[in-house]
Amino acid sequence: MMIDPRRLRERMVKEQIEARGISDPAVLAAMREVPRHLFVEPALAMKAYSDSPLPIGEGQTISQPYIVALMSELLDVKPGMKVLEIGTGSGYQAAILAHMGAEVHTVERIRKLFFAARKRFADMRLFSIRPKLDDGTLGWPEEGPYDRIIVTAGGPRVPQPLVDQLADPGKLAIPVGDTRRQQSLILVTRENGEVTEQNLGGVAFVDLVGSHGWT
Ligand code: SAH
Repeated sequence: MMIDPRRLRERMVKEQIEARGISDPAVLAAMREVPRHLFVEPALAMKAYSDSPLPIGEGQTISQPYIVALMSELLDVKPGMKVLEIGTGSGYQAAILAHMGAEVHTVERIRKLFFAARKRFADMRLFSIRPKLDDGTLGWPEEGPYDRIIVTAGGPRVPQPLVDQLADPGKLAIPVGDTRRQQSLILVTRENGEVTEQNLGGVAFVDLVGSHGWT
């Protein structure tokens, strides 16, 4: 890369993230630190800091930087929290959460993406991320409950196993829609034994495929 990636990240944070109202210092710091260009194919590295999702192979995408920031802020992640991510993809969102101090468990169903992400985590010495190859709509019950759960693919409903694995207090963010590729971002909150849902508006994610997702 000819241009200093630090400067590209600084610009990305200013123009795409802060300008749209994201202000959580932990989110902004993580987005300044994590080398997003190393989470895409070398041929796309120059585009890594642009205001859009990018293909990562297998018909999947790394989310737009703003969406990663939005979901990270929404979850209000604090150091030491146990976080479950469904849809590892490139591993970028998991790396952001790890930089925020979370202990991240992340599940991916596509073998090739799982292996590529696992290698990135090792190369970047991101030891607080534990990846797993599986159907994430079932969660990762052996390691739960989780303070936070983030689903980075869109499904037809909130998978019940994920609600079951959510701690009290706990927050779960997931794109839900009854048609594919167009969803509402749903925030599920558990507090004092009560589960509530909040609709935060329209988003567009790739499909959540699995037992409690699309078939
Ligand atoms: N968080 C990712 C975004 C990846 S796109 C990133 O930062 O790059 C969504 C990912 O969800 C895809 O890789 C897709 O294969 C995966 N996915 C879809 N359904 C899944 C399921 N049931 N379990 C685990 N991963 C799933």
